[in-house]
Amino acid sequence: MILHKYDNCVFCGSKKLKIAKNQNYTHNFYTRAIKNDLALNEKSFKNMKVYECENCNIIQNNPWFSKEISFKIFNQIYGQHNRNWSNVINFFQNGIKPNHGKLFDIIDKNIKIKNYCEFNVPFMGLMIHYFSKEYKKNLEFYKNVFYYSLKYLSSRQVAGIKNISRDKKQSDAKKYFSKLCSLKKKYLSKKKIKKSIVIDNSYLSWLYNDNYNSVNSRSLASELFDIKFEDFNLLKNSKKYDLFGIFHTLDHTHQPKKILDYALNNSKYVLLYCHSHENLEKQHLFSFTDKFISYLKKNKVFCKDLTFEIAKEFKSKETYILCSKFNEIKIKI
Ligand SMILES: [Zn+2]
Repeated sequence: MILHKYDNCVFCGSKKLKIAKNQNYTHNFYTRAIKNDLALNEKSFKNMKVYECENCNIIQNNPWFSKEISFKIFNQIYGQHNRNWSNVINFFQNGIKPNHGKLFDIIDKNIKIKNYCEFNVPFMGLMIHYFSKEYKKNLEFYKNVFYYSLKYLSSRQVAGIKNISRDKKQSDAKKYFSKLCSLKKKYLSKKKIKKSIVIDNSYLSWLYNDNYNSVNSRSLASELFDIKFEDFNLLKNSKKYDLFGIFHTLDHTHQPKKILDYALNNSKYVLLYCHSHENLEKQHLFSFTDKFISYLKKNKVFCKDLTFEIAKEFKSKETYILCSKFNEIKIKI
């Protein structure tokens, strides 16, 4: 079955869904790919109506693609997360960090962070900023460390290769790995903070085909940034993070409230970066809106909207909210 009914709010579970006034949509790069690869007609897209949740203010499509089809969309049709890879390539080849305006400086100045976590996707948030802070700034080093990481990880792939070439791959892997280790040691300039990424392997997120030069983004992140990956479904409520960053990933899971609750309950601060435009595109099951912050406040979460404090030029409507269940947010901009 291609389309599935999502009659309850995918975030809070409420049945109070009101049909949105504006049902116009346009196709984009992604929906055209989906339309083609699933051999859909226009009627399927017209049938997906936009609803607003009167409880938590998110907007969602209903009906929308079934779980099985969303796996296909995020792992086959556009399995590679372009923005994720553009961020990492841009940094390691040109020294340009992902654009979050002055966000990192504000966070760094105001919150003492020893234990930092993000959700699901490794290069969308602040991991690159931490790398840039902890290692000496040197473009040659960036280029080399990226090159050797990719080479090391891909030289461990020997399927279908004859024995003689396997030996070559084995010696290559050893060479690249030792280069990588010595480079990281040589250019490290500060004590590294603890970094982890919590993953829930949702079918709404990029997983097995989020690759570049045959290397998966999570393998690369683990190697380059020394990130610990943790399975959300096996976690106990005991992790204490100083900051938990969610960068355009909360609308890419089927259990967004569980994830946000986990982050809030186990962290001093949570940073939520999400889309907030009124037009929900058809490749997304749901989206947050700029009214979501009032839902959080209603639920006794301290919030500070940083969207207009970070001096970033936005290409589409997005929101940055710093929130906490335990601490009133007093930060100096
Ligand atoms: Zn809701």
